[in-house]
Amino acid sequence: MNGTMMDQPLTISSLIAHAARYHGNTEIVSVESDGEATITTWRAVEENARRLAAALARLGVAQGERCGTIAWNNRRHLEIYFGVAGAGMVCHTINPRLFPEQLVYIINHAQDQVLFLDRMFVPAAAKLRPHLKSVKHFVYMGPRDEEIAGQLEGVLFYDELLAAEPSDYAWPDLDERMPSSLCYTSGTTGNPKGVQYTHRSTVLHSIAGNQPDGLAMSAKDTALAVVPMFHANAWGTPYIAAGVGCKFVLPGPKLDGESLVKLIDTHRVTLALGVPTIWMMLLGALEKTGSKAESLKRTVVGGSALPTSMIPKFRDLYGVELIHAWGMTETSPLGTLNQLLQKHEGLSEAEKGKLREGQGRPPYGVELRLVDDAGNRLPEDGKTQGNLQVRGHWIVESYFAAGKSALTADGWFDTGDVATIDQDGYMIIRDRSKDIIKSGGEWISTVELEDIAISHPKIANAAAIAARHPKWDERPVVIAVKAPGQEVTSDEVLAHYQGKVASWQVPDAVVFVAELPLGATGKVLKNKLREEYGEVLLTAG
Ligand code: AMP
Repeated sequence: MNGTMMDQPLTISSLIAHAARYHGNTEIVSVESDGEATITTWRAVEENARRLAAALARLGVAQGERCGTIAWNNRRHLEIYFGVAGAGMVCHTINPRLFPEQLVYIINHAQDQVLFLDRMFVPAAAKLRPHLKSVKHFVYMGPRDEEIAGQLEGVLFYDELLAAEPSDYAWPDLDERMPSSLCYTSGTTGNPKGVQYTHRSTVLHSIAGNQPDGLAMSAKDTALAVVPMFHANAWGTPYIAAGVGCKFVLPGPKLDGESLVKLIDTHRVTLALGVPTIWMMLLGALEKTGSKAESLKRTVVGGSALPTSMIPKFRDLYGVELIHAWGMTETSPLGTLNQLLQKHEGLSEAEKGKLREGQGRPPYGVELRLVDDAGNRLPEDGKTQGNLQVRGHWIVESYFAAGKSALTADGWFDTGDVATIDQDGYMIIRDRSKDIIKSGGEWISTVELEDIAISHPKIANAAAIAARHPKWDERPVVIAVKAPGQEVTSDEVLAHYQGKVASWQVPDAVVFVAELPLGATGKVLKNKLREEYGEVLLTAG
């Protein structure tokens, strides 16, 4: 043989086998539906995953078929991630916050054969059951329970299924290009679309997204995944945690600030990952409880724009570094992460904080570009805004069962985001292309307008939308929620914009509302707001 290398497939079972072998005693903390925290280990998770794989084969699920989960972040869900994919089936995580019709659509579209359910989703599953055409087995994620058996006829019990299997099941050899998991995007319009990941894309994402300038999770960490396991595979953290063998904390259903503070302090969490709203709640709870979150060193924040006030708050009050990341279900999701370069070392904390407000740079494996509406490349000068396109080892090529490519003719995926990229590759999301305000041919970023409104001490939350305008086509209007117990006028909010944006970018009006409409992943539904308030400037004359 002429100097060859081993060719081992990049499979998800190899991640969990590594965790069991080299980090077997490292703990997994799991908060169950009843609020109790239980402790297991990577070794026990792998053994259960193997038993589950054997059970699925016995139930007659074939390789390539989908098994759905409607569940919080807990240890059985972790076992299902590895057991289903490790056996060659596809782990389809479903967002429980979707409307019933969307749930039915997604489960039927994915042709889920099995549905794994946490306790609180059993009644909903029983209601939907007559509409679910493909599901052959419902599995309650717990021990035998007569109340559950009464709610859902024929339901199987996860713990019983596993107990009936031998522990010597061996992971099958799989082709790394086989599908391993499936997530649907919850777009604001149209039917949800499925993104089906492969073993290879998942393992490459786990390795490259976790470089020191990426998530940088290590065996020394205790990582808390607040981001749900049904949202873009919890940003890949279950796979990454197994690959590095860190202690892993799964918070279950209660994600309020005080529950998280308790988990962080009890289990000495060093790294936590979640969306900005979660960290707003955590900051509130830290203040209330007086906890200093001493163990916490880093939080990774993504999913929607980071309110800029959060970086100095975490840094100065709690010594926590905030890492801003951007991604989508279509990008597995890690697309960019904001870490600094050697040349930034001499900067002040404030200057570093400013640089870190953006969404950051791509890791090896992801490439970005900006194009105009005709597809022409735009300069990466930190100023020119354009449509953000992406390609790489873990980016979608075509949606599940769509039968056609989702890419441009030259092989890039259009993210639907509008961004700038600077000379060093730092990317800043300016808006969703659907949301950006086009005022007299100039673009105004709603993200920036929202950040300014939220920085007003009497404003709790805000969304900026394009409202129709007789002269300028569109003008910005801010829809704002007052902070509890605060009184504030439109003029006060508008005055807050002076000096922060160009005068023509200052919103034309402020509308106060009790709350903003949120979608299933906690993002503000701006299309709803546009429907409701898109004409306020016309009616006001
Ligand atoms: P999803 O597939 O539901 O995770 O949504 C992906 C979209 O969320 C992206 O296309 C962005 O518009 C938005 N998004 C994700 N991360 C960020 C971020 N850090 N800042 C601003 N928007 C973000």
